[in-house]
Amino acid sequence: MLVDQRVLVFLGPPGSGKGTQSAKLSQVLQIPAISTGEILRHECQSGSELGRTVHAVMTSGGLVSDDLMNQVVAPRLEQRDCEVGCILDGYPRTVSQARFLRDFLERLGMPQPTVLDFAVSAKEIVTRLSRRRQCVECGKIFSLGAGRDALRCALDGSALIPRADDHPRAIRARLNLYNRNARQLRGYYRRQDYHRIDAAQSPDRVLHDVLIALGGAGRYPVQKIAPALRATAAY
Ligand code: ADP
Repeated sequence: MLVDQRVLVFLGPPGSGKGTQSAKLSQVLQIPAISTGEILRHECQSGSELGRTVHAVMTSGGLVSDDLMNQVVAPRLEQRDCEVGCILDGYPRTVSQARFLRDFLERLGMPQPTVLDFAVSAKEIVTRLSRRRQCVECGKIFSLGAGRDALRCALDGSALIPRADDHPRAIRARLNLYNRNARQLRGYYRRQDYHRIDAAQSPDRVLHDVLIALGGAGRYPVQKIAPALRATAAY
């Protein structure tokens, strides 16, 4: 095990900013960010068998089966870039996945995860998700302001569209499901290396609190890094 090797698990409802924070933290800590939602969306776009299987589940706001998710994540954790640790955004989402992760990390000789739980009110989530747009080409997520933004990706100029599962029925389904599973996951992780983060703050402030939770802002150069990363913030 490397001295500073860390596996970070991000818990938090849809729209809590896990994606934004994992992109920032991945740069700060120089460890890969693994988003299970992104992996599944790529599979859907590729038209693979896995993609066809999960497409309907995802657009309804349901959860892909634990077995399938474990099969997606395990080979990713075995890849070389994870030797320095990694950020898991969106996995585990159930206690059964958390148990699989515990056993699999043990088998790989990797440390047990540090859990960051991004807390934000349901009202704020609905506002954020209704403003969320994704680039059809590169998949980057943007947050629309009060009607002033062009509907084009700042990186490649492609169209921005709402995510297929960001319609009100699927949002409600995802939130209900999330709350049910999160209660159990919190119970599972609470006595481990678990930190609750106030995710209703600005992205830089949230990053600051995350770094404090991970061992103090002095350990990582937060003040220098935060402004440089500001451009990557969606929310
Ligand atoms: P959000 O957190 O905004 O709901 P994600 O991008 O993390 O979005 O995930 C999108 C969808 O992908 C989920 O609603 C679910 O259907 C599926 N998914 C992602 N990760 C998992 C997982 N660990 N277990 C089961 N389903 C998952």
